[in-house]
Amino acid sequence: MRMQPRISTRPRTPEVEVRHVRREYSEGGKSVLALDDLSFHINEHEFVCIIGPSGCGKSTLLRLLAGLEFPTSGSVLFGGRPVTGPNPKSSAMIFQTFGLLPWRTVYENIELGLQGIAMPEDRRKDVIDKYIKLMDLEDFTDAHPAELSGGMRQRVGIARALAVEPRVLLMDEPFSMLDAQTAEALRRDVLDIWNDKRMKTNTFVMVTHLIEESVFMADRIIVLSKRPGRLVADVPVDVPRPRAEHARDAEFFEMCDMLKRLITYHGGADTGGMGKV
Ligand code: ADP
Repeated sequence: MRMQPRISTRPRTPEVEVRHVRREYSEGGKSVLALDDLSFHINEHEFVCIIGPSGCGKSTLLRLLAGLEFPTSGSVLFGGRPVTGPNPKSSAMIFQTFGLLPWRTVYENIELGLQGIAMPEDRRKDVIDKYIKLMDLEDFTDAHPAELSGGMRQRVGIARALAVEPRVLLMDEPFSMLDAQTAEALRRDVLDIWNDKRMKTNTFVMVTHLIEESVFMADRIIVLSKRPGRLVADVPVDVPRPRAEHARDAEFFEMCDMLKRLITYHGGADTGGMGKV
């Protein structure tokens, strides 16, 4: 009998796996089913957006990925291991409302993220300085959040999350509190960071309610149905990068239009115009 060459055909473990996740809340004696039988995976280096109608469980899903809460049944895995709680090495979160402590300076807010990590004092300063520089915050290190614009506050939120150097960055509608111009500039900066091969954090997951934003940023879009959130589609975005935001480009427009029809069909609001879910 001839020996067959030993070729490994085992696929690489995905960075994140969501397996048959169901999340039920109990509120005033009534049960609310937020997510039902949700399964998908995210590979290393991917930029994945999650979209779906308001209340379909997008933020719930991010909290499950972050280990801030747990599925009622099913499982969430990071690098093949079940999530058992928040783990700074696995993920860090960026919030819609920035989540900064008002009594702390920019430097101290970024430092906050590092408190859960064993890191020597001198190394800590180097890391904070590195991310202050990355987010163009050098002139604001001693400022307090109240002295900063929304865009600058979110830059601090991003620096704080990245300073922990997690494998996955989780973002919950990170640009929705910003004016259009600031949001556009920050989206481009986030894409530059994701593209930077030197960055330790290279898998990005973003919840958004803007279809255009998801098509501008993502490699792949996970579309959820109205509550309870179920997987409607897992769509690769083949529009070549760099992409132009608000593109009149046919491919970009067709992709947005297809997603809008999909969401409307599965119970999302029909906004009468392309853009908002
Ligand atoms: P989305 O982010 O898509 O708007 P959410 O994840 O915030 O949706 O919420 C999904 C559903 O779960 C909603 O009906 C919401 O009211 C419910 N929900 C979320 N968190 C809780 C909670 N802590 N207790 C009870 N119900 C909750």
